Amino acid sequence: MTVQCYLVKTAYEYKVAQFHTQIKNEIGAITNNYSYIDSALVSRQEMLYKSLSEKYMKGKKSRLDIKNGVLNTPFQNIITQKIKRKLEKDLPDFKIDFAIVLNKFILYKNEQETDTIFSEKPFIQNKLYGNLASLNHAFLVRSYVGTTNGTFENEEYKLLTEDSMYVSVIDWEMIILRRMTFILILSLFSIATLIGLFVIAIRALIKQKKVSDVKTDFINNITHELKTPLATLGISTKILAQKNIRDNDENFNSIVNTISRQNNRLQNLIDQVMANSLAENEIELQKEKIDAEDFLLSIVNDFKITFPKITLKTNFQTEKTILVLDKFHLTTAFLNVLENAVKYGSNTITMKTKIVEKQFSISFEDDGIGIAKNKQAFLFEKFYRVEQGNLHNTKGLGLGLYYVDQIVKAHQGSVNVISDLGKGTQFTILLKV
Ligand code: ADP
Repeated sequence: MTVQCYLVKTAYEYKVAQFHTQIKNEIGAITNNYSYIDSALVSRQEMLYKSLSEKYMKGKKSRLDIKNGVLNTPFQNIITQKIKRKLEKDLPDFKIDFAIVLNKFILYKNEQETDTIFSEKPFIQNKLYGNLASLNHAFLVRSYVGTTNGTFENEEYKLLTEDSMYVSVIDWEMIILRRMTFILILSLFSIATLIGLFVIAIRALIKQKKVSDVKTDFINNITHELKTPLATLGISTKILAQKNIRDNDENFNSIVNTISRQNNRLQNLIDQVMANSLAENEIELQKEKIDAEDFLLSIVNDFKITFPKITLKTNFQTEKTILVLDKFHLTTAFLNVLENAVKYGSNTITMKTKIVEKQFSISFEDDGIGIAKNKQAFLFEKFYRVEQGNLHNTKGLGLGLYYVDQIVKAHQGSVNVISDLGKGTQFTILLKV
């Protein structure tokens, strides 16, 4: 951005210089000398200069008188108007204010004798013609040197005058800005591109950081999940190595059951990870026509057997609705939602179904701990777990809801969540009828 600003500034300065040169050249081309204005007036002015000089030479006038005389000639207004009109006619594209100021008035009486009557830097008070009130914002267009010859008491003398023309173009800033439009647009565009790229890079960085955090979390979680069954298996094998245990049928069976349970748990964990390693479009669904309520009731029954202490109420308003869906995957998805409700503090769950805008809606309402609003957007992300307070001890890999989302999306459906911390959660799944 600094480079861009520097380039724009340099371009601006260059355009200003170019503009000044253009104006100088154009005015230079039309004002070589004053004779274009009105030759009669110019010669009358010369006469006046001469008569002033001669009076000075006679000693009747001082240098100051000459200066005052030159600066207050009766032709000033007329010549100003004429130059103005000329500029308007020849440079119609610009509105120009100008001032011609007298810098020098030198009298050469003969080869040797030079009398500098007046010599000053360009100064607005020494204005001969023009409508500028100040030279502050004006620029020098050109200087004119005029010479007049005369004779005084049989001796030749020469008058040399030097004056400068200053001009100021009205609204010159706008003219320059207009000429710079292309550069400005280009540089704004490149600054915008730069900012855009910067934002994209920062976003990618944040995303990377999040992914890496999530992966670390996942590794911690899975290690934690694997530790318990592995430790139990280790201890069980050691116990089995003892002969007195092997001889006692009851103890032996109990240990074998433990081993089998832990083995199942490990298998489940691995299955869960495997199932979730598939992307949405890689999930192969085996769809079949199913009576929705029958299907849901079978899940409800299974759930009730597994969790006898939990109250699961149903309110189905979709009798005899036939859906085309993958029974296996959806069963796992619905069970994930129900098991989450139990895992996150719920005792009573209500399952409702209805038809909403030609879609089959299944909602799971629980009275668990609820989910904070700012966490809800991430629930369906892979490996995401809400980490807070008492949740640290709840086991999980953060894959349950991700799986639900993937399966529902594979059915062209959608999942959403309504929840308030401490007030329970409601997951609603919409499926195509
Ligand atoms: P996890 O293996 O952690 O349960 P999920 O993907 O199933 O992973 O859920 C993601 C997170 O959403 C959980 O860590 C939990 O904090 C939150 N969550 C899911 N369901 C519920 C619920 N019914 N009540 C409260 N929080 C829930």
